[in-house]
Amino acid sequence: MKFVYDFAEGNKDLKDLLGGKGANLAEMTNLGLPVPPGFTITTEACQQYLRNGQHVDGLAGEIDTHLEALESAMGRRLGDPADPLLVSVRSGAKFSMPGMMETVLNVGLNDASVAGLSRQAGGNDRFAWDSYRRLIQMFGKTVCDVPGHEFEDALHEAKTAKGVTDDVQLDAEDLRALVTAYKKVFVKHTGHDFPQDPREQLDLAVEAVFRSWNADRAVLYRRQERIPTDLGTAVNVVAMVFGNLGSDSGTGVAFTRDPATGEQGVYGDYLANAQGEDVVAGIRNTLPLADLEQLDKTSYDELMRIMATLEGHYRDLCDIEFTIERGKLWMLQTRVGKRTAAAAFTIAAQLVDEGVIDLDEALTRVSGAQLAQLMFPRFDLSGSPESITRGVGASPGAAYGQVVFTSQQAVEVAAEGRPVILVRRETNPDDLPGMIAANGILTSRGGKTSHAAVVARGMGKTCVCGADDVAVSQDSFAVGEAVVREGDVISIDGTTGRVYLGEVPVRPSEVVQYFEGDLDPAHANDPLVAAVHRLITHADEKRRLTVRTNADTGADAARARRFGAQGIGLCRTEHMFLGDRRELVERLILARNETERNEALVALQPLQRADFLEIFREMNGLPVTVRLIDPPLHEFLPSLEELAVKVAVAHEHGRHVEHDEQLLAAVRRMHEQNPMLGLRGVRLGLVIPGLFAMQVRAIAEAAVALAAEGGNPRPEIMVPLVGAVQELETVRAEAEKIISEVAGSSGVRILIGTMIEVPRAALTAGQIAEAAEFFSFGTNDLTQMAWGFSRDDVEGAFFWRYLELGIFGISPFESIDADGVGRLVTIAAEEGRAARPGLKLGVCGEHGGDPDSVHFFHQVGLDYVSCSPFRVPIARLEAGRAAVESEGSDHR
Ligand code: ADP
Ligand code: MG
Ligand code: MG
Repeated sequence: MKFVYDFAEGNKDLKDLLGGKGANLAEMTNLGLPVPPGFTITTEACQQYLRNGQHVDGLAGEIDTHLEALESAMGRRLGDPADPLLVSVRSGAKFSMPGMMETVLNVGLNDASVAGLSRQAGGNDRFAWDSYRRLIQMFGKTVCDVPGHEFEDALHEAKTAKGVTDDVQLDAEDLRALVTAYKKVFVKHTGHDFPQDPREQLDLAVEAVFRSWNADRAVLYRRQERIPTDLGTAVNVVAMVFGNLGSDSGTGVAFTRDPATGEQGVYGDYLANAQGEDVVAGIRNTLPLADLEQLDKTSYDELMRIMATLEGHYRDLCDIEFTIERGKLWMLQTRVGKRTAAAAFTIAAQLVDEGVIDLDEALTRVSGAQLAQLMFPRFDLSGSPESITRGVGASPGAAYGQVVFTSQQAVEVAAEGRPVILVRRETNPDDLPGMIAANGILTSRGGKTSHAAVVARGMGKTCVCGADDVAVSQDSFAVGEAVVREGDVISIDGTTGRVYLGEVPVRPSEVVQYFEGDLDPAHANDPLVAAVHRLITHADEKRRLTVRTNADTGADAARARRFGAQGIGLCRTEHMFLGDRRELVERLILARNETERNEALVALQPLQRADFLEIFREMNGLPVTVRLIDPPLHEFLPSLEELAVKVAVAHEHGRHVEHDEQLLAAVRRMHEQNPMLGLRGVRLGLVIPGLFAMQVRAIAEAAVALAAEGGNPRPEIMVPLVGAVQELETVRAEAEKIISEVAGSSGVRILIGTMIEVPRAALTAGQIAEAAEFFSFGTNDLTQMAWGFSRDDVEGAFFWRYLELGIFGISPFESIDADGVGRLVTIAAEEGRAARPGLKLGVCGEHGGDPDSVHFFHQVGLDYVSCSPFRVPIARLEAGRAAVESEGSDHR
């Protein structure tokens, strides 16, 4: 196995092996751009190092060979006292993990070669000692775990002693003294001297990069970002070039377009007489990149040319690190740059306009997650509100409210109709009521997988967590100077993680306005809106999946239709039993005989018919899947505690409350240990005579009424919780009789199908398909029953721990578990279609609007996904992307 690649041997497609940085350094080298020579040690070497307990057969020899080649290319030997070659040792994994793994510059310097370096630089002692002290500092911190602040303290002391504020004001003597101070820090923490052997420095640095793959922070980051743990990092060894040689040298970063908005232009920062990280570290004030034109026109022009080359080559926004050494430009890094959601859309559309990419490719450059971000309301920052801190943006959205510190206060304040932000050090399951009541949640501890973050995302609630400079006490919290007391108002941004004092006005998303068809004229020419329009239109042309919505009311149906829904995949009927209709449900439950029961059903039926008619009208011409009643009936009764208290109080006062007593008895009788697994769904239909019949009749009558108005109703009746074909057959026989009675000659056709949400249904799909004209996967229940996770309990109770342990990277209720639950879907789809060709297949669980799940459903070959109205555009986009992606893989 080959472990080391010269830059000339690699290319940008070898990211798995060479890491992102190494692959792109190789690509730039092969493009003929000025990259300092060097080589890359592969991720496979790192994997072996970590697996075999720190030894890799043959690696040392390969490094020897490549180092010799580098030395002869440069005409210098590593650490040669007279004329040293220096190198940087840089980590670089496949996925960029910002700030996770570090770099050591100036490797090869020691007490002897520092003089040689000075001579190389024309007797520049200051430069040589500055480089040396940087090496000890970076090596100490990265390779030997010396606390970084000790070096910073020593540097600070040196400046104070001299009465200066800026590093550049320290002269050669000061820096030589600083090296002595740094060496003392080094010995104190490591128990040995700073290694003087250049090759030992190099080997130790390489191994430290390998080991840093398993550093706590890196492990945590990978878990949060769902990056596989076994990839390993590559290591790049690069000949040093120096930006700290004087005012004709410097270092900078650049973007080929504005990463915030996508606008074309010159973006970046430059810092003269500086090395490495100085630009981003904020040590000194940087110059805008455009100013480089005045300072060094030749280098500036060359940089502009190179940036154009890179954009043309990568066909995307690139970010760049460069150094100028005495008027000579060197490229040190490039990659396809990170960008905001808005910029992703704008840039993709711009690149299409410029003829760089086609619309198919543009679709691969954006994502449903980014579109979702653009659909959240945002803070209007035009008033420059004061941001007091920044935590982890854990669940997007913009929320403001009165600060409270306990779950109970949150419930109380919310009950008064006021918005609340619940502030906690961290949350636990006891905080659930307060989290539900709050508009937003702010915690000072925990990351994206903490309890607060997981639960808030599950609820679609704004959450900022891990704001670790927030000191939470009983009735106030402090951030730096600011103290925020209970009752004060703050605003939190769950996308950026920012926290603001006071109420920041929230403005609706223009992307939502666009979908709703009521775009503020001020945004009519907004490039972002235009970009979203183009990409979603193209997605619609490409996608094979139809996108429906979950909607229970005419209003929801209308809104979803504006968002592009092509029908309703799930219309829940249970809300039609709530409000003032509860009384009828109570009558149904308490009925002592068939007559009383029929009376209650007869009273409910016209109400249901009116509900259906409204929805069918809104979805005229499009399919509407109506699910027959699903929840256990006792859910419609008051709670046991409530009734028991009411009855007890009445008895104490000697009052007779017959109705409540009957209800109480019914609640006791109907109590279930596991209601989710109890008398619900199709079981209700089979046990309570007339219940389903009433609903079927209401559906058929509503459809006939719409047809009579000249409309085109397309109802589909869906039976929930079926596990055996016999259940469905029984319901079907009764329903068909009613339908032919009601709709016989009207021309209205009504499909009858079932949900697949019990694992047994998935496993016997071939049989069930005999009695079903369609399947709709209820992936919430299917997940619940496949995993045995009570979905109302587990997310709050322990999912945070499962996520922390990496048992799954994302809640299986959020994104479909392709291996387990997805397998049930695949089996059911295949066996169902085998039994009944043309069987219509859809999904109506929450997963229908989840980007990754949409791709999965596309691959399985479902006909449609159904999701909440707001997720419809996201599903449309992702379905288009899935189609483009699978075309791409068919070609290959
Ligand atoms: P990161 O991944 O954190 O950006 P890098 O490996 O890119 O780390 O290096 C950190 C800094 O050091 C960057 O500013 C980079 O440009 C600079 N640097 C790295 N290698 C060299 C080199 N051979 N010569 C000069 N500067 C370098
Ligand atoms: Mg870098
Ligand atoms: Mg269900």
